[in-house]
Amino acid sequence: MAEYDYDLFVIGAGSGGVRAARLAAMSGARVLAAEEHRVGGTCVIRGCVPKKFMVYASECAHNFQTADGYGWTVGETRFDWSRFIAEKDKEIARLSGIYVRNLHNAGAEVVHARARLLDAHTVEIEGRGQVTADKILVATGARPWMPKSLPGVEHAVTSNEAFHLPELPRRIVIAGGGYIALEFAGIFNGLGVETTLVHRGPNVLRGFDDDVRSHIAEEMEKRGIKVILGAQHEAIEKTGTGFLSRFTNGHHCESDVVLFALGREPYTEGLGLEAAGVKLAENGAVLVDDYSRTNVDNIWAVGDVTNRINLTPVAIREGHAFAETVFYDRPTTFDHEMVASAVFSQPPIGSVGLSEADARHKLGKVDVYLARFKPMKYALSNSAERSLVKLVVEAATDKVVGCHVIGPDAPEMIQTAAIAMKMGVTKAQWDSTCAVHPTLAEELVTLREKYVPQNLGQAA
Ligand SMILES: Cc1cc2nc3c(=O)[nH]c(=O)nc-3n(C[C@H](O)[C@H](O)[C@H](O)COP(=O)(O)OP(=O)(O)OC[C@H]3O[C@@H](n4cnc5c(N)ncnc54)[C@H](O)[C@@H]3O)c2cc1C
Repeated sequence: MAEYDYDLFVIGAGSGGVRAARLAAMSGARVLAAEEHRVGGTCVIRGCVPKKFMVYASECAHNFQTADGYGWTVGETRFDWSRFIAEKDKEIARLSGIYVRNLHNAGAEVVHARARLLDAHTVEIEGRGQVTADKILVATGARPWMPKSLPGVEHAVTSNEAFHLPELPRRIVIAGGGYIALEFAGIFNGLGVETTLVHRGPNVLRGFDDDVRSHIAEEMEKRGIKVILGAQHEAIEKTGTGFLSRFTNGHHCESDVVLFALGREPYTEGLGLEAAGVKLAENGAVLVDDYSRTNVDNIWAVGDVTNRINLTPVAIREGHAFAETVFYDRPTTFDHEMVASAVFSQPPIGSVGLSEADARHKLGKVDVYLARFKPMKYALSNSAERSLVKLVVEAATDKVVGCHVIGPDAPEMIQTAAIAMKMGVTKAQWDSTCAVHPTLAEELVTLREKYVPQNLGQAA
């Protein structure tokens, strides 16, 4: 048997790579993980975690506004961007340190450098030479996609830079209609930045339920975000006072920052996967089977680089399943069905299962239950915000196949709904669950009347 320097080499110490490296090392395997940026990956360093801190920071302004109805007189408020960024970075550094410590405690080695495959067992570590490993795990994640040929694209920043803008802009144009674009729109708008969101599609959040898509677009506009749909950037020009975004609909808009959140691409460029014979999809994603194994016997890939469901908990579970299978001899796959997700827009969204359109397409006849209402939280304020709860039920089986919520705490709610739905809950069982009062969540178990959209008969 060939003798290798390591049993496992993990490329990328983000959500998926860290979990896999840690578990594998705990089995007694000799593990080396390479990280070119900072341990923790996108989620901890420039994704979920700092994003959520920014959401919290920006929500304060909305809370000040609604406090009046509850008898508060809020004095002069002032937001200090530099102070906030410093506090956020302190916490991110602490979390990244915990990840490093956990790897070391498990017995894994970490090298802070870029790694590249030379063949299926040999890895070149930038500036440090080569090592060999019996098994390789590719966990390099994804990176923001940019329209490279767009005139003036060099003036735009991505989500990576948005976490470290030198100062809070006065005006921002955000391009994109996905969850990252919406979240940043909410963040900057909440912080008092004049915010314009431009998206080429007919509505934001492609892939989500249509009622959710139209409802959130309306709510964002109510909060003061200018939403431009059906248009995209044609060019960005630098002016004496900022950057001029020119759109395909003939309109233009000047801002201090242009943020492109147009999607993310698997980060496989320059990784040497061709040298190792690993097959990629057209979009660069590493092709894997249910066990996250590539077409090359000793190479696996997990997380965003495989472009399955690009969320932190999914990357972690895929990394976990890989380690269980390969290092504990317990073949494990991760089930990608019924994965709940949240959009930390303002108001936020929680969603699990099928949209109404997908359910109709896949399952045939479905029943829909929907309610829109003013959340109790704003009953004593002049906020015009409306919440939405929607259930999609397969008519033939009575199974709840889709649950979509917009409103305060929707992301917290959806986690629990996902448990029941993963277990195959029927609408009758769902309804037999007693409400928790007074909450927004109780609306979910009190939806009795089937909803029939005006342009859609029961037969649809
Ligand atoms: C702005 C933003 C907000 C997000 N919010 C959420 C959220 O709220 N909830 C959620 O579930 N998900 C969210 N995500 C998605 C989530 O961050 C990713 O799905 C998750 O981080 C994927 O984990 P991963 O292990 O596949 O990759 P990553 O966490 O991206 O880790 C990959 C690591 O590999 C390193 N690397 C790459 N190439 C090399 C190389 N050649 N050598 C060495 N190191 C390398 C990278 O530096 C990186 O640290 C968000 C993403 C973004 C960008």
